[in-house]
Amino acid sequence: MITIENYIDGRFQPALNQKTIENISPYNGKKYATIPNSQEEDVTLAIEAAQQAFPTWKNLSIEVRYDFLNQIAQGIQNRFEEFVQAETLDNGKPLSLARNSDIPRAISNFKFFAAAQMTFSSESHYASGQGVHYTLRQPLGVVGCISPWNLPLYLFSWKIAPALAAGNTVVAKPSEITPYTAYLLTQICQEIGLPAGVLNVVHGLGNPVGQAIVESPLVKAIAFTGGTQTGKAINEICARQFKKVSLELGGKNPNIIFEDADIDRVVETSIRSSFQNQGQICLCGSRILLQKSIYDEFKTKFLAKISEIKVGNPFEDNFMGAVVSEAHMNKVLGYIEEAKNLGGSILIGGKRKILSGDLSEGYYIEPTVIEGLAANCSINQEEIFGPVVTLIPFEQENDALEIANSTPYGLACSVWTRDMARGNRLAEQLNFGLIWLNSWMIRDLRTPFGGMKESGIGREGGVEAMRFFTEPKNVFIPYT
Ligand code: NAD
Repeated sequence: MITIENYIDGRFQPALNQKTIENISPYNGKKYATIPNSQEEDVTLAIEAAQQAFPTWKNLSIEVRYDFLNQIAQGIQNRFEEFVQAETLDNGKPLSLARNSDIPRAISNFKFFAAAQMTFSSESHYASGQGVHYTLRQPLGVVGCISPWNLPLYLFSWKIAPALAAGNTVVAKPSEITPYTAYLLTQICQEIGLPAGVLNVVHGLGNPVGQAIVESPLVKAIAFTGGTQTGKAINEICARQFKKVSLELGGKNPNIIFEDADIDRVVETSIRSSFQNQGQICLCGSRILLQKSIYDEFKTKFLAKISEIKVGNPFEDNFMGAVVSEAHMNKVLGYIEEAKNLGGSILIGGKRKILSGDLSEGYYIEPTVIEGLAANCSINQEEIFGPVVTLIPFEQENDALEIANSTPYGLACSVWTRDMARGNRLAEQLNFGLIWLNSWMIRDLRTPFGGMKESGIGREGGVEAMRFFTEPKNVFIPYT
């Protein structure tokens, strides 16, 4: 049994009330760890530590901060396999995904923002005959970073790395469902001698822990990734305090396929965009919009490929592992029932998969494809966040555009066509923060990342993140 502890002011400690929460591994449904059931008082300690550390951290030279962030990256690299195993145990994702994506990307986040802060500079603006304006971009102070369970270390580091790089000190809260790799990360911070209080991690439930971070007037900005409902609540609190906030929220992403697309390539990618990480990636294409003339061809080829997908023990060679928790499994299965009640046909999957032996209590769901539902029904409008996709036929480009834009979300979208004029035309009109033409989930840390509408506010990534985590201040110097 693993005992996960808070990391506050450079020290590991339980919650002040000594209470804990059990952590269950989705792969076998068994308890494997406890985390502190922290309360507002623990957050207060963390904020105090971060406040004390701020003046020193912000005044360090960029070279020293560069070294610290790179040492964190190297620390993860040194214990790479331990992180990979921890992520799979905690989340249920296949080991191969943790090994090839989650953990390498977390390392990249620290390396990237270590380098980004070396080139991030204040600007100056020459005013002819009058003088010069220069714009300082200064760190904010203590900032709060709150992350979800689907890509645990990847998204945790996606926020912490730029926040620290920009010279802020951090109070962070990983998801209570997947706290393990955040805990290992704090061990590395202690090992490398990151100054006490620069990064503080408080474990526990969203309310009170996340809530206390958001509500504290001493926390100057909130970077949040998670569900839209939680984001709304956080946004309201931040609005009352005029607090800077960045929200990366849910999605209901369309995967739009035209008749001139390379169908075999689309099928190949759609397997990943539908079911990678058990469909629990905010960027997954859960609505597959198909031009009528290729509907049957795509459906036949797609279902044939899905029938080859191996769902099972994430520690073995399977493409799909377990979904993250029993509650989440039941939510996804509930949506499948609702789809049936609405007249949808389950083309494949549709059920929980019970594995044998020790894994019989794990949370596995078959990859599921549904057709025959209206584009405006709940299944096609709400985020399911599991291995469930729908097929929706369309006639013309305009119909596809209308269906694609018809949900409250606007995170990501794929368009498959050989006609690049059409691809670019649609890219202009699709209301999504991320658009992939003939591709899916190609990421580059320099590009702006985030969604429109109820998928969030603000952008992270590259210079956008560095700007979010700093306050611009304009100064004017006259010539006379
Ligand atoms: P969630 O909103 O339930 O929780 C996210 C985090 O917020 C957790 O750490 C949780 O403890 C905390 N939290 C809960 N209530 C809080 C409160 N009142 N105040 C402050 N913090 C609180 O989300 P989840 O179920 O962990 O994650 C899944 C969601 O995340 C999905 O909707 C998915 O689309 C979204 N997501 C979005 C992106 C993106 O980049 N847009 C990326 C990954 C996941």
